[in-house]
Amino acid sequence: MESALALVQRQVADHHAQRVGRVVLRVGALAGVEVESLRFAFDVVSRGTPAEGATLEIESVPALVFCPTCQREFPGTDGFIFACPGCGDFCSEIRQGRELELSRIELL
Ligand SMILES: [Zn+2]
Repeated sequence: MESALALVQRQVADHHAQRVGRVVLRVGALAGVEVESLRFAFDVVSRGTPAEGATLEIESVPALVFCPTCQREFPGTDGFIFACPGCGDFCSEIRQGRELELSRIELL
């Protein structure tokens, strides 16, 4: 969360903006963060910065797991072990879903 805010602050500095209107974060289903705690953390770390009071939007990124046997990706659900729906093998190569990154920022 603090690294995401560091990105926000860099954008603000680069654009000489006074205020941040909106921050959009991409959060993977497997990122291990709760949206509610993320919002709370954002409120706390943005206090006293140009991002204070900005609208925080969360874009959810679904989990995708790759099966080397079938050479295909399949949607992962919560958890750490993913069984391929094609061959039943357990797969651990997560291609998507661990993101916690800045997607967009709107400066005022
Ligand atoms: Zn498979």
